Amino acid sequence: MFAKVIVDIKHQNVNHHYDYIINNDLIDDIKIGMRVLVPFGAQTRMGFVTDIIDKSQTATKEILDVLDDIPTISKELFYLIDNINKQSSELYSSIFDTVIPGEIKLDYDKDIHLINKEDCPEDILSNFNEKNIWHLKKNQFEILPKLRRLQKKGMIEIKQSIKQKTNKKFKIVYALNTNHSYQKIHNYPLIMDMNKKDYYDKKQLIEIGFSESQIRTLTKHQVLIPSKQHIIRDIKHFFDDHDKIVELTDEQQYAAKSIKQSFLKAQTFLLKGVTGSGKTEVYLNVIEELIKQNKKVLVMVPEITLIAPMAQRLKSKFSNVAIYHSALSAGERLDQYHMILNDEASIVLSTRSGVFLPIKNLGLIIMDEEHDKSYIQTEHVIYDAKHIALLRSKYHQIPIVLGSATPSVVSMYKANSNEYTLLNLTKRPFGIEQPDIKLIDMKNELNQKNTSIFSKDLLISMKHRLKNKEQTLILFNRKGYAPFVLCRQCGDVPKCPDCEISLTYYKDKNILKCHYCGYEKPFNQTCEICHQHAVKEVGVGIEYVEAELKRSLPEARILRMDKNITTTKGSHEKIWHKFLNHDADILLGTQMISKGLDFPKVTLVGVLMADLSLKVPSYLASEDTFMLLTQIAGRSGRHQKGEVIIQGYDLTHYAIDSLAKGYDTFYKEALYERKLSSYEPFSHVSQFLIEGTSFLKTYQNAFLLKKRLSKFDTVKVLGPSQALIKKIRENFRFVVTIKYKYIDHSDVKTIINDLLNDDIHIKYYPNLDII
Ligand code: ADP
Ligand code: ZN
Repeated sequence: MFAKVIVDIKHQNVNHHYDYIINNDLIDDIKIGMRVLVPFGAQTRMGFVTDIIDKSQTATKEILDVLDDIPTISKELFYLIDNINKQSSELYSSIFDTVIPGEIKLDYDKDIHLINKEDCPEDILSNFNEKNIWHLKKNQFEILPKLRRLQKKGMIEIKQSIKQKTNKKFKIVYALNTNHSYQKIHNYPLIMDMNKKDYYDKKQLIEIGFSESQIRTLTKHQVLIPSKQHIIRDIKHFFDDHDKIVELTDEQQYAAKSIKQSFLKAQTFLLKGVTGSGKTEVYLNVIEELIKQNKKVLVMVPEITLIAPMAQRLKSKFSNVAIYHSALSAGERLDQYHMILNDEASIVLSTRSGVFLPIKNLGLIIMDEEHDKSYIQTEHVIYDAKHIALLRSKYHQIPIVLGSATPSVVSMYKANSNEYTLLNLTKRPFGIEQPDIKLIDMKNELNQKNTSIFSKDLLISMKHRLKNKEQTLILFNRKGYAPFVLCRQCGDVPKCPDCEISLTYYKDKNILKCHYCGYEKPFNQTCEICHQHAVKEVGVGIEYVEAELKRSLPEARILRMDKNITTTKGSHEKIWHKFLNHDADILLGTQMISKGLDFPKVTLVGVLMADLSLKVPSYLASEDTFMLLTQIAGRSGRHQKGEVIIQGYDLTHYAIDSLAKGYDTFYKEALYERKLSSYEPFSHVSQFLIEGTSFLKTYQNAFLLKKRLSKFDTVKVLGPSQALIKKIRENFRFVVTIKYKYIDHSDVKTIINDLLNDDIHIKYYPNLDII
């Protein structure tokens, strides 16, 4: 027998299947989807078995070993991989990397064994340990050519060892052996207490009353039989479980019933309801029924910050909830993955990457905040988790529920044209009114001599909340303090020498740093161009807003939530918990605070510079702005009447103006705009990013790409134009944009592959406008 294998090497030249011989010892163990070790050139590499065949013309080498007991790639996952591959300009092995968790990937280590000490050069010799082995670190690999020469001379031997990146965690447990022949057992009456469980760990034995030395003696005489047991690292949460029993409203009941009636159909539901209208209660109700039928549910949220509140709701009602996202430790993630793989989880709660998890007997997919762009992976291998989830729904013939207060224009359009089934929740269950929305033009504030970043109204309202012991959310959607610095004398703005973008000023470290490549240098007030002592920060960042808040409201307790703060594990959950406990009066944050959180005491939401996100050059800018503002407005007054104050300079745009009027007004305007300029859902937009070190050659290739794409008469080609970021890490960047009703992605791939060479990279962003 032979196996077709995709070898884990990132290079265009090896981006295809290789045949290997399966020798008789391994024939029963190797299955499609398993990971194997194969010889590749002079190396040992990991590979994925994609097929097992009877005949091969090309196989000459044998598979060395098999790494899995259960296939890592299921049939379903192969189907998803094929689907991504059709539209992807990335390598096959990169797609495998995307769909399986990093923790089960393998690391290659090189061990150098010393053979002939006498002739070995001194600088090399000093690296070996007492066993004459040198574990070569990754950053020492450049010395390998030199070592190979020494190997040829017989002084050393280079060996490759392979290890799994993260290991399962084990503990030793003891079982009582009733057939022992230990004579002095009568000295151990406590043995009688060991009858409740099959296994005891050391801590439990000590609790019974055994001493450490007694445990050792009993083990030695085979009264206690030790063994290794896999333990699952517990994920800690900062909240209490409390199961709340609610009676669904008529609308909720209708929605839940409709979904339940389609349990065995690949039907897509759009559950549309304002924040607080009880969508989550509908999910819980449907999940309860599904679990009774012994099926599994995948619940997805777009961001890590939404995991905790959803986990709270799920865990207070159900057991066996697996949680999967990037802020878990590698070990925790591996455990959760195995829990899912071994069919021990009834509910899987995850962010984007969890859409590939190997859930058996999947019965339902719920995608909350379906409009959220975080569901799209825009780096490495590009995919839209919504698209993958819809594929899985078809594959399993199960329903998928897309939930949102502000559905994406495309989803709403599909629901209106009956491709999706629309379920509406129009009321908040307690009949609490939507908050009052006030728009404040900051140009007028300036005319009235108010130079603060807070309007008079916002300041008064915040003071009012403090007095009433209510809470305030302030949204400031811009990260980093003072995005750039400027010389007040000559106007110079320090830029990154490689990326040609302004360096960001970090006040806490007093450095200037490139946001893209990480280049940094100390901040200096003396200008490098005119040598005047006049360089100062410009604009405001969230740290500045925080400082201003503290200055204006010294008695307020303020918390800040942004990417810089929440990188460590569990930190966002801590902030969330603190604010929920009313240990702070104001939560200031970036778009991270706009989603999903339910704070009963928040009655005021303030938005600073609300029109900033309208300036992004993309046809999605209006949709993104409207959604962000609606989401954040929905945080106010969820349990009592609230107020929303929106500050900006350009408040007449429909994305802001329709906030108070509601989603339907926005949707009509947005759809009209898209129809006029033929954007989604009327035609598709895709982009190509062309990168290379030579400006001219890169431009020429971008132009060639345009020429070839123009041959399809269903496709309109725009560009090439320089990307928003013209240059990253010595590479010039051009963008070609296409608009089309239909395109064959395999034709596109052929064109791309034709133009690629060592210096020209082309990345394809299907159905995306993001560069
Ligand atoms: P959404 O997911 O649409 O934002 P939730 O399901 O979180 O809304 O509901 C908001 C709040 O109202 C929650 O505290 C929830 O428990 C409560 N709630 C929802 N539906 C009902 C109901 N039918 N009866 C009582 N309380 C409800
Ligand atoms: Zn840079």
